[in-house]
Amino acid sequence: MSASEKDAVANDALKKESLLQDAPTKNTPTNKGQQNSSKQKSLTHTLYITILTFSVCLVLVFALAAVFLMYKNYEADAADILAQNTQELATRLESQNKSEQLKTLASQANVNVRYTFIDEDGVVLYDNWENVSSMPNHKTRPEIEEAYVSSRVVVQERYSSTLEKEVLYAAKSLEDGNVLRLAETRHTLVQFLQSISLPLICLLVLVCLFAFALSRLLSKKVVTPLDSLDFSKPLKNSAYEEMNPLLERIDAQQNLLKEQNQRLEDANSMRREFTSNVSHEMKTPLTVISGYAELMKNNMVKKEDQQRFSELIYDEAKNMQSLIDDVLIISKLEESEDEVYANEVVDVLEVAKEQAARLESFAQENDVDVNVWGTQAKIMGSRTQLAQMLHNLIENGIRYNKKGGSVKVTCEEKTDTHQVVLSVADNGVGIALEFQEKIFERFYRVDASRSKETGGTGLGLAIVKHAAQRLGASIYVDSTEGEGTTFTIIFPAAF
Ligand code: ADP
Repeated sequence: MSASEKDAVANDALKKESLLQDAPTKNTPTNKGQQNSSKQKSLTHTLYITILTFSVCLVLVFALAAVFLMYKNYEADAADILAQNTQELATRLESQNKSEQLKTLASQANVNVRYTFIDEDGVVLYDNWENVSSMPNHKTRPEIEEAYVSSRVVVQERYSSTLEKEVLYAAKSLEDGNVLRLAETRHTLVQFLQSISLPLICLLVLVCLFAFALSRLLSKKVVTPLDSLDFSKPLKNSAYEEMNPLLERIDAQQNLLKEQNQRLEDANSMRREFTSNVSHEMKTPLTVISGYAELMKNNMVKKEDQQRFSELIYDEAKNMQSLIDDVLIISKLEESEDEVYANEVVDVLEVAKEQAARLESFAQENDVDVNVWGTQAKIMGSRTQLAQMLHNLIENGIRYNKKGGSVKVTCEEKTDTHQVVLSVADNGVGIALEFQEKIFERFYRVDASRSKETGGTGLGLAIVKHAAQRLGASIYVDSTEGEGTTFTIIFPAAF
């Protein structure tokens, strides 16, 4: 991972970490979970109730339909049998005289069937259930009326006022005009149900018990694979095909969490490293300052050395000041990650000239010539950040140069690609290839003593890289040891 990528990851993680730290005050997922669990339904229970209700309803509907069909069938069968018996007996009576007919009727053994013989005027001649003399004229009975005019067996079901029951009648007229009628009392549907209620209820109870057991078994069978899901390896589960999208989402979330944790860890270790580096960097100047100051306080410095000692103290204090300034700049760049910086139009050439002018005396001290040239090139961004970048790059160009060396700052706007290209080139000491990526890391120095002697903090390029990211720019280094270094920064143009 390059230095710039590492820093980006660290910032991202730091931001997330701060979000996480805020989290307990804002939302309480665990509490929510606990609240929900009291309202939550059990899947096993829901499935059990659903399957049970469904199967019991199904059984009841089937039972009712079956009973109704059985009843209808039983009724139809009874009517057919009664009609057939009537036809057979009528055929027998046809060939007999009246006394023989009465004898034949009296000899009928089925006491459940009522046999009635009526003459052509409706007078009842024979009835095996009632006393003939007390019976009214039957001429107007619907089945008799119809039988007088029909040659077939007439079948009717109606309420008998004599028997006070639902009765099925079959009547057939003989050739002599008399009518033979067979009658049978029938059960209504309710009576039919009553008659089969005991076996029916027993059967229903048995079926319901079976449904109870089966529902329990089925609901358990459905839920067991869900219970045994292994969420530590979501994609290894093969419980149900329909769960795959959910498991894939869980897997993705877990990977994301792992990544975030890794970033957090990285950020934490970077922060620890940064803190210890800052303390370490501060220790040296502080030791020097306090040492010399103590000597001066105790009057242990000769008069002629006092000036030199004061200068040493002053230089170290300056170094510390630069270090603190750079630490503050880095912290600010990290802190305000989310703020929109690209809020002003800045002319890169103008800022470059301004920074070169600020560093003029430093350049003169080091006998380095600084030139700025190019065209007006505007970018959107923060002027302060651009100034910090240019200051650090030009300063490095001077610092890591030779006597009589030069630093060339060029700036041009590429209208075809809508980019602004800034380059800071020096003909100084250069950087060996193996260090070129590392120089952007905090406190990384190729030549530590030179950096420290000339007031370097080790944070200059880390700030440059950070600020470039904020400005949406990319940074490249091209260097040859002993020949010089060119830093190129490509910004998106403002217009
Ligand atoms: P410093 O404050 O030490 O200059 P920087 O972060 O600015 O820290 O630079 C990191 C290191 O990269 C420096 O110590 C130096 O070794 C190297 N470096 C930076 N700029 C140049 C350059 N223009 N020429 C040669 N080396 C450079």
